Amino acid sequence: MTSVSLPVDPFDLVIFGGTGDLAVRKLLPVLFKRFVDGQIRPASRIIGVARVVLDEDGYRRLVRDALGEMAAAFAQQCEAFLALMAYHPLDVRKDDGWDRFTSFVNERPNNIRVFYLSTSPGLFIDICQRLGECRLNHGTARVVLEKPLGRDLTGASEINDAVGRVFAESQIYRIDHYLGKETVQNLLVLRFGNALFEPLWSTAHIDHVQITVAETLGLGRRADYYDRYGALRDMVQNHLLQLLCMVTMEPPSSLLPDAVRDEKLKVLRALSPIDASNAARLTVRGQYRAGISEGQSVPGYLDELKDGRSSTETFVALKIEVGNWRWAGVPFYLRTGKRLPEKVSEIVVAFKPVRHSVFARGSGMPLQNKLVLRLQPDEGVKLWLTIKDPGPGGLRLRHVPLDMSFVEAFGVQQPDAYERLILDVVRGNPTLFMRRDEVEAAWRWTDPILDAWESSNEAPRPYAAGSWGPSAAVALIERDGHTWNEGND
Ligand code: NAD
Repeated sequence: MTSVSLPVDPFDLVIFGGTGDLAVRKLLPVLFKRFVDGQIRPASRIIGVARVVLDEDGYRRLVRDALGEMAAAFAQQCEAFLALMAYHPLDVRKDDGWDRFTSFVNERPNNIRVFYLSTSPGLFIDICQRLGECRLNHGTARVVLEKPLGRDLTGASEINDAVGRVFAESQIYRIDHYLGKETVQNLLVLRFGNALFEPLWSTAHIDHVQITVAETLGLGRRADYYDRYGALRDMVQNHLLQLLCMVTMEPPSSLLPDAVRDEKLKVLRALSPIDASNAARLTVRGQYRAGISEGQSVPGYLDELKDGRSSTETFVALKIEVGNWRWAGVPFYLRTGKRLPEKVSEIVVAFKPVRHSVFARGSGMPLQNKLVLRLQPDEGVKLWLTIKDPGPGGLRLRHVPLDMSFVEAFGVQQPDAYERLILDVVRGNPTLFMRRDEVEAAWRWTDPILDAWESSNEAPRPYAAGSWGPSAAVALIERDGHTWNEGND
């Protein structure tokens, strides 16, 4: 049985960048799913805003196309959903069109207002200033900021300052869609809803932790963006550090938004610094070359980019320490990259071995217990245990997982992270969104790594597309006597 979806209060969701890739591929389809599920009331409106000149019918056609097969499968609901749509062509940097847009939004003063900035971050400041000038920033108004929030601490602070002049911090929702993933929320429930794990959750019993977010895709369509950012800024500064926070934070006193975010912030502030003095030892950055990915020959990064000089990293592995009483001495290994052999995101918590084996030589060694939280694909939880090999023979040890795939256990596909997060904005619940101080603390820790790489003048290490990254990433963890969790373990 799955939890019941309660309808949310009527809202106006304005999507700036409503014709863009994120809106069309992700936001509009997930809104439709929530609509079909009865969570969006008919008094709500979804208002696309973009530079593209389209009339309302044209936008509805674009939305219908974006819904793909779902539009045909739920034809009646699709018509009702399209009736919620409106579209305002607007160049947000120009004056034209704002008066008409403001009057339109003001037609439903009682609707909750959500301004979703699904545009390049270079427009966030302009849009917020305009919303302020149009006095659309009051009452129930909320603003959602997509990643990336800056390229460094200075850039992030500039955006935060400018947005903060128009919206109060309680109105600002900085999205990190990893936090909306079912397994990530389940991590909170596993840790704090079971008596089993928390007593073991520290340096006394945990040997090390691995966090992997691997993609098989290469550069794709967002080449310009990616080449300016690279894997550390695009993935580690936000998604991987947020996952690390969820694994390591102290139990919050409640699930109130600031109670959770205060604990995450403490983790970010406790990360041991990586800078020019230790970056060569604790970090590995790589860039893919041509290779075989998912059975196909694929070109290298520089060929895809058509720029033979870029030193942007498409892979990064890090060894991190959380410098506090609970985690002292526990290494955290993080890695992420493009053109890796599998699309997989997982957290592996490896427990220390038993102190003394009572089993006879030849019966095998007890396993180091492992808790594997899989975010994708096939979201679920696996707990590796040592058991007796069944049968009348001698006592031999065997390693097996208690394996729970959420799809198999609950018989439903897990909701997309955005389904949950967009409705959390409407409900006014910022627990799963990043607060300003969190984002800035993450940049404060990341910036010195970027500086160290830049000052070293070393190119990223090459790795073949379809491999698990440069061999130095294997050495990073094997030096400590561990191996990366690979395959379906
Ligand atoms: P995109 O380039 O596909 O779309 C940009 C949208 O902004 C378009 O609708 C365009 O018309 C509009 N726009 C551009 N300039 C404008 C202007 N002056 N006035 C009004 N509208 C203007 O970008 P995207 O891939 O949809 O990404 C949007 C945001 O989401 C970015 O911040 C991106 O980093 C972030 N993001 C995207 C993805 C993704 O998968 N696409 C994933 C995570 C985060």
